[in-house]
Amino acid sequence: MPEPMQWYQKSVEQCFQELKANREGLMPTEIQKRLEIHGYNELEFKKPSILMRFLRQFHNPLVYILLAAGLITGVLTYTGEEMLADTIVIMGVVILNAILGFFQEGKAENALLALKNMIVSECTVLRDGERKLLPTRELVPGDVVFLQSGDSIPADLRFFHTKDARADESSLTGESLPTRKNTEPLEKPNLPPGDQTCIAFSGTFLVGGAAQGIVIHTGEQTEFGKIASMVKQSKPVVTPLQKKITEFTQVLIIAILGVGTVNFFLGSLFGYSLIYSFLASVSLIVAAIPEMLPMIVTAILALAATSMAKKNALIRRLPAAETLGCTTVICSDKTGTLTKNEMTVKKIYAGGKNYEVSGVGYEPTGDFILRGEKIEMPQFDLALQETLKTGSLCNNADLKCKDNQFSILGDPTEASLIVTAEKAGLRLSANRLDEIPFNSENMYMVTLIEGINENILYTKGSPERLLALCSTQLIEVSVEELIQERVLLEAEAMAQQALRVLAMAYKRVPKEKTSLSEQDIQGLTFLGLQGMIDPPREDAIEAIQQCKTAGIRSIMITGDHVLTAKAIAKQLGIIKQEQESALIGEQISVMSDEELSEAILETSVFARVAPEHKLRIAQQLQQQGHVVAMTGDGVNDAPALKAADIGIAMGITGTEVSKEASAMVLTDDNFSSIVGAVEEGRHAWNNLEKAILYTLPTNGGQALLVMGAVLLAPFVPLFSARLPLEPVQILWVNLFDSVFLTMPLMMEPKHKNILASLPRDSKVKIADSLFLQRVIFIGLAIAIPGFFVYYHFGNPAVVQGVIVDPLLLTQAQTAAFWAVLLVHFGFVISARSVYKSAFSFSPFSNKWLLLGILASILSRLLPTFVPSVGVLFRTAEFPVEWWLVILPCLLPGFIVLELDKYLRSRS
Ligand code: ADP
Ligand code: MG
Repeated sequence: MPEPMQWYQKSVEQCFQELKANREGLMPTEIQKRLEIHGYNELEFKKPSILMRFLRQFHNPLVYILLAAGLITGVLTYTGEEMLADTIVIMGVVILNAILGFFQEGKAENALLALKNMIVSECTVLRDGERKLLPTRELVPGDVVFLQSGDSIPADLRFFHTKDARADESSLTGESLPTRKNTEPLEKPNLPPGDQTCIAFSGTFLVGGAAQGIVIHTGEQTEFGKIASMVKQSKPVVTPLQKKITEFTQVLIIAILGVGTVNFFLGSLFGYSLIYSFLASVSLIVAAIPEMLPMIVTAILALAATSMAKKNALIRRLPAAETLGCTTVICSDKTGTLTKNEMTVKKIYAGGKNYEVSGVGYEPTGDFILRGEKIEMPQFDLALQETLKTGSLCNNADLKCKDNQFSILGDPTEASLIVTAEKAGLRLSANRLDEIPFNSENMYMVTLIEGINENILYTKGSPERLLALCSTQLIEVSVEELIQERVLLEAEAMAQQALRVLAMAYKRVPKEKTSLSEQDIQGLTFLGLQGMIDPPREDAIEAIQQCKTAGIRSIMITGDHVLTAKAIAKQLGIIKQEQESALIGEQISVMSDEELSEAILETSVFARVAPEHKLRIAQQLQQQGHVVAMTGDGVNDAPALKAADIGIAMGITGTEVSKEASAMVLTDDNFSSIVGAVEEGRHAWNNLEKAILYTLPTNGGQALLVMGAVLLAPFVPLFSARLPLEPVQILWVNLFDSVFLTMPLMMEPKHKNILASLPRDSKVKIADSLFLQRVIFIGLAIAIPGFFVYYHFGNPAVVQGVIVDPLLLTQAQTAAFWAVLLVHFGFVISARSVYKSAFSFSPFSNKWLLLGILASILSRLLPTFVPSVGVLFRTAEFPVEWWLVILPCLLPGFIVLELDKYLRSRS
């Protein structure tokens, strides 16, 4: 039996037949049917199962230690030792830790997944003869899809029309160079995907040209879907900070294990029983390791990503949430990001005359004014007419009218040209034979339109580029020699008024010519210029001001004319005077890296740049130590977006390729959303810093308490009788207090003037001197009151090294148990700010913290006052008057930290 034919072996007609489709697209009734058969065009992300996620919480060296300790105490209990409580508590800690980790992780995962789902990719589909923009998940086999350079391939397609099509299939084949695509079937059987030149594969990109194809496979049936293991596992991302923290805790664990072992030997040497020494060492280890920290980092970043999404900035890679906070320069596009991208043609230069055009927005009503007088019949002015016609026929946008409301489909620059033509009564339709689409390197677009006796090539683009390709011009009705300089001066005059200028030109070609190539674009006849306004966004003006106070530089990088760019930059406040220097792409091309680096220091406007210049600008800024956020929308922007510390793609106008290359996508294409995200990034970092600078000193304090007691045991008989806190109690402090008091710190409200300070240094280390000093001083502020309270009440219970009053000793331990908690309370209240005095903010602004304190108190009352629980935790109720000694323990943590902040603020 012959092997069944593969799609790439079939002719286009065969494909259409087999898929029961035609070039007009599927009918609505058919789509429903096919959806039912094939399902949605998406890959199911398999989340790790709930059980796996839970079990994963136990995969942690700390938990191994605890489990070992639990096992040992369990065995000892079985052999008659009174260790049941320890077993229960240790196991309780293990399980509680796992539950907390489980929920925390689930929440973070869901938040990130929700973000992922917010990035909906769309594609242009022909259905029932009508072009539509649809979410790619709604595609079915048989759908006809239109693709442009920069689009992602939404499903597996068989091409039936291509124009210079090139696809980047590196994600599938590993081949980094784009593959040329065409419509020819291939004979050879069993070709690998990379060689199937008439097929495009889901998950790859069209990086050049244009193409039309019919969907052959969707969802799991696609080549990409079949390589299931590659895409189904959503691996958790690790940010630089998370990495640092993990490395840091690993070093810490090893160090603490060492100290724990020494502690064990010293303990048994100094008279504690072996078991007690062992438990003390285990508690020391648990106390000293900040086991909550990695969880907190993830949670804070996920929280930040969620609030960024609310401000129209979707984080695609979690590290960006962290890096955003230290951004020092934002390089932004002009059109659409800094401006409104609502284009209106205001001036036209045609046939040697300057016209003005009235009217606002996209409503196609307005007049043409020449030397202050309205022209009655603009369509009879030949040069003007041809200029308008070119604008309208060399165009991929569409003007729509619904209930007298006009809206556009496509590029606003192009739409405005249609609007202007209609203002002159020119509503055109024509048969288009071929097209060279606009790209930001060529800076022009060409269409070939079928005429009666000949065909006509219409083109529009940047004046400099296009005029270089023109040799004649149309004046009145005659074709005359063209003086380029004269026209360029007119273009500059328009650019100076912040207008975006496009030149129009055409060329008559013989009827036989039905397709275009780059070589045809010369010897053109210049027709005219159209200048359009694109007002700056008001919120961008404000955001640029905010950037200034926040120590962030704003740089404009645009493909537009340098004078237009400068005029807009001035309106936006990026530069003060139009005399200020600006660089254009041609100048950058001839500069060395050193020269560019120097120039960047005082240049904030870059015009007529090509994507490769963007890359160089980003690299030079990074060389200077900047953390660079860079926007981009085109296919060729991808390298710059990847190179920048934070690549930012445009959600509305950006290509899929640029989104894929970016760490963040703006859903509203708005500059001020970047600034909003930076603000959230800073906020996240602040809270992280707070959480770290709270957690680690408390770990230090508890560790000092155990180690100090062991070391002092030979000198203080009381300490060789029992530790100030029982091992179970230390576990308790470590778990409950961490949860109740650290977690609320990550909910700290935003500072009012978070954008009023300079960006943080991205190279800042966790274990810097501030950190070490706080661990030591606060550690002592926690341990000393613990020792004191225990000694003060417990000393009489030990006489000549013998415990004479075991109850009193237990009561003293309970008192110390409370004392440590109270020090934590005082400390956490001040720890709400790393540098500012606790008296400078409202004590009630973080309700979570108040709740946390309440929960800590309640959880502590249980073992203290319920005797049966007390037995378990080796606590006992103590006389009320002891509180007089215990209550002041609220102060040391608070005072030490406040003093530290005060001294720091003075020096
Ligand atoms: P930016 O987005 O930075 O303003 P673009 O790269 O979009 O710049 O455009 C650069 C230049 O290319 C514009 O100044 C204009 O002259 C020309 N241009 C822009 N859009 C089109 C288009 N759709 N067709 C032809 N030319 C265009
Ligand atoms: Mg643009």
